[in-house]
Amino acid sequence: MTEERSNLALHWKILIGMVFGVLVGYLFKNGLWFGNFIEFWLYEGTEVIKSTQTTITEVINNQVVERIETTKSSRPYKGADFVKDWIYPIGKIFVNLLKLIAVPLIIASLTKGIADLKDISKLSKIGGRTISVYLVTTLLAVTLGLMVVNIIQPGSGMPAAAMEEISQNNLEKSASKIEAGVLQKQTGPLKFIVDMVPSNIFGAAANNSNMLQVIVFVIFFGICLLLIPREKAKPMHDFFDSMNEVILKMVDLIMLMSPYAVFALLCNLTVSTDPAIFGVLIQYAICVLIGLLMMIGLYLMAIHFYTGRSTVGFLKAISPAQLLAFSTSSSAATLPVTMERVEEHVGVEKEVTSFVCPIGATINMDGTSLYQAVAAVFICQVIGFELTLADQLTIVLTATMASIGSAAVPGAGMVMLVIVLDTLGIPADDLAFGIALIFAVDRPLDMCRTVVNVTGDATVATLVGKSVGKLRDPNVKNWDDHYERS
Ligand code: ASP
Repeated sequence: MTEERSNLALHWKILIGMVFGVLVGYLFKNGLWFGNFIEFWLYEGTEVIKSTQTTITEVINNQVVERIETTKSSRPYKGADFVKDWIYPIGKIFVNLLKLIAVPLIIASLTKGIADLKDISKLSKIGGRTISVYLVTTLLAVTLGLMVVNIIQPGSGMPAAAMEEISQNNLEKSASKIEAGVLQKQTGPLKFIVDMVPSNIFGAAANNSNMLQVIVFVIFFGICLLLIPREKAKPMHDFFDSMNEVILKMVDLIMLMSPYAVFALLCNLTVSTDPAIFGVLIQYAICVLIGLLMMIGLYLMAIHFYTGRSTVGFLKAISPAQLLAFSTSSSAATLPVTMERVEEHVGVEKEVTSFVCPIGATINMDGTSLYQAVAAVFICQVIGFELTLADQLTIVLTATMASIGSAAVPGAGMVMLVIVLDTLGIPADDLAFGIALIFAVDRPLDMCRTVVNVTGDATVATLVGKSVGKLRDPNVKNWDDHYERS
């Protein structure tokens, strides 16, 4: 990557992009400075037309008649509209590019990773350790969340009127999350495992939310590649080796755009978020943040004591992935960068990175499980639902399962929170009230928990790498390393 050539490391460039994004977003939102200029000079008089359709039911000549009435309203073109139309698309293109290469990267890198192991017993060793460590970190995260929320008690003594208002405002928007959660709950106990096995690999690969299915196929494929004679396997091996190199190069090139993309993403978030939303929910948000910070502290301790590596060096190596996780709220979109950073900048060999990171992105969500524990107890405190010790244990179990089942996309953690609350036996009305209440601050908290999800994956990859002797010195490649200038 270019950072080694220019004076400024990539994470600084991304950070600067983020800060500018927030700043410019703030100016546009408040119609100041350049935003004002654009509104007045370029778009003066332009109107945003919004049409709303309402179904009117009437009784005409003793017959019930339904008709749709469309009302059009208009408002002046604002700085926020300008950001959505002209700045946000840069961020959207960047996220699309990352998602575009996620599935091919998993296929190429995991196939090559397994084939390089040369022996299935090594795969089961890495697999066993990966799943066990992921389970331990998730349980730790839920327990930490429960501890923090039980000590701080953010839900007691909250002003009822303010909560009612926030909840009412978000009731409609949060309804889809509740619906999705209820649908998910209605499926059978083994549905999760059944869903992991695709019936059509092209169908699975066509949808980024089916990443686990792709992983299952590739593991199966990789194992069979190990089991056939070496000379027959060689062409496949060489093909995926080359494909893997190409895709890693694509990551390098896409990352050249990252400072501008995070600028666009954060600029858009700033114009569409109202900072006042934190208001009465600030204590709850602080609880989640304290838990998340403690979780990062635990990861760094594990890195320090188990691998003997510098924690600052580790953070520097993975920081671009963390910053992207924050800006995109999606560990799936961040996955190509996480893999590239862990492999090249931390020094975990491909055999481990290619296996641990994609699996982590889909099943290991420590930030999400911690958030689910805090949110569940917070909602119970607010509605006055007494939690017994057995209930708290139920939260540990369901939040762990729910985080495994959460998709690695923005807002997915909230869908699974519905299942956690439902398992506790919270009445439907209270559940809807609670979800709508915390919906108000979900996006900023989602950004933070995604950072922890990604940091967790990188940490576990490093720990597993060390445990199987596959942690070496970093081997950073620049985007134009093999480019021959004529
Ligand atoms: N946005 C999170 C992720 O992609 C999932 C969630 O907690 O909503 O990791």
